[in-house]
Amino acid sequence: VDPPASLLHTFRDAVHHVPDHTALAYFDARLTYAETDALSDGVAAHLAAHGFRPGDRAVVMLQNTPHFVLALLGVWKAGGVVVPVNPMYKSGEMAHVLSDAEVTAVVCADRTWDAFLRDTAARQPSVRIALTACEAGLQTRDDTRVLRPERLGPRDGADDLLTAARNAAAAPVPAVPAPTATDTALISYTSGTSGTPKGATNTHGNLSYNVERQRTGLALPAGSTYYALAPLFHITGLVCELAGAFANRGVCALTYRFDAGVVLDAFLEYRPAFTVGPSTAFMALLAHPGVTRDHFASFAMIASGGAPVPPALVAAFRAGSGCYLHNGYGLTETTATLATVPPGREAPVDPESGTLAVGVPGPDAVVRIVDESGADVPFGTHGEIVARGPQVVPGYWRRPDATAQAIPGGELRTGDIGFMDADGWLYVVDRKKDMINASGFKVWPREVEDVLYTHPAVREAAVVGIPDAYRGESVKAYVSLRPGTAPDPAELSGHCRERLAAYKCPREVEILPELPKTTSGKILRRELRDRTRPDGR
Ligand code: ATP
Repeated sequence: VDPPASLLHTFRDAVHHVPDHTALAYFDARLTYAETDALSDGVAAHLAAHGFRPGDRAVVMLQNTPHFVLALLGVWKAGGVVVPVNPMYKSGEMAHVLSDAEVTAVVCADRTWDAFLRDTAARQPSVRIALTACEAGLQTRDDTRVLRPERLGPRDGADDLLTAARNAAAAPVPAVPAPTATDTALISYTSGTSGTPKGATNTHGNLSYNVERQRTGLALPAGSTYYALAPLFHITGLVCELAGAFANRGVCALTYRFDAGVVLDAFLEYRPAFTVGPSTAFMALLAHPGVTRDHFASFAMIASGGAPVPPALVAAFRAGSGCYLHNGYGLTETTATLATVPPGREAPVDPESGTLAVGVPGPDAVVRIVDESGADVPFGTHGEIVARGPQVVPGYWRRPDATAQAIPGGELRTGDIGFMDADGWLYVVDRKKDMINASGFKVWPREVEDVLYTHPAVREAAVVGIPDAYRGESVKAYVSLRPGTAPDPAELSGHCRERLAAYKCPREVEILPELPKTTSGKILRRELRDRTRPDGR
């Protein structure tokens, strides 16, 4: 793989070749490559005119909207570093990000600005520029204001993103050198394996490598539509869906944020060829009333990434959609993908543990499974997954300590326990920190969750360790149910006892209407654990 130096090069290449093709589809609105280019030039010109300099950081805190893309490209065109932030972040989390990344500009929804960000930003002296996007115009297809800023009033202390982009479009785009592969493109905040969120510094080369590898691996016809099921503020959506579409000179279809009914409508309207999202999104789509195989008929590939995939979901998804769900594994620190199930192949299930393989590592990644001393373990043996390669970030923003600890000598310690089989398939057992120690026996929550998912009534499952005076920890399962089912918790424990060693079986099963999830769709075991450990141990 010989990738371009940056995604900006990839994008400009598409603008050059297909200026009049649609780049972004958002409900009824469309932006061509040329329009996306001109508006993002405007964002860059506005930023530069307000003192934004190459190397400066800009927070982009938006859902999946064209505005996110214009801000991303605009900041890069101005030579800056994008700090993508989950729009659900609250004031305290934002205060940390703004000061840690010493942010110069923020781009957010007007609602976020009004709710707290104006005040939070006012306390951070480095923030000098604010651009807002009108949230009310962004959420539904019925609202026509999406790309018509002129109807919107100015915000106190901030400019409207699109008005600024249009007004500045005639101004010269800042004359900054194009990014090189080693320049930082993103600072992606992640809590990683421990501690307060730290910023992984994804370089332009990291991004470009994974985008190019996906493009050549998928080999979709040029101009195909990529549907952004994952949020763009998360590395998976940004790399695999948005940048993937640009590399293919195709369309990136966006619909604000995950909503099963909206997503299924979008599948019929945009006829996408590719999408990737967390496994929980596919569970929700399958459970949605009225879902049919027709909804999925246009796809060449559907991938699940960023969260564990229970084998039972693959079978259910095939039955419901007619499509094979391709697993994919990676971290923010591997710039989305590290291992994927190649097109046309199906991931094996380990006969002993029932775990579904996550894929095979990409050609240039060196993935090892190591013991506590860092030595390689044999095939089939559990150990920590460590990786080096062109997708691995060089480090964390201004955190040499964390970099030395997690990425010693450029090799990333993922914090995940896994194993490799003799054919090169990689399996993720679980996160090291989520292991449950019940009377000295190791229990990996995923194995128990995978078994719970084979029960027909179970929609979502999460297993955690709870304090137990006698055993140290004991196994507790939280589940949510499929509509129209009402199993007794005892029946669910019985289902596990028939299939798992007694020490792994949940001693308690609690049924909740819904399990807590991150906005990127991962089930939050931590939050469930904290319910039983108010002190947060
Ligand atoms: P945060 O740090 O913000 O709390 P996070 O730790 O989940 O989020 P990410 O980089 O988004 O950070 O997630 C990476 C983790 O997700 C991996 O370390 C792994 O535990 C899990 N993961 C990703 N893909 C898969 C997969 N296909 N199967 C199992 N687990 C996966």
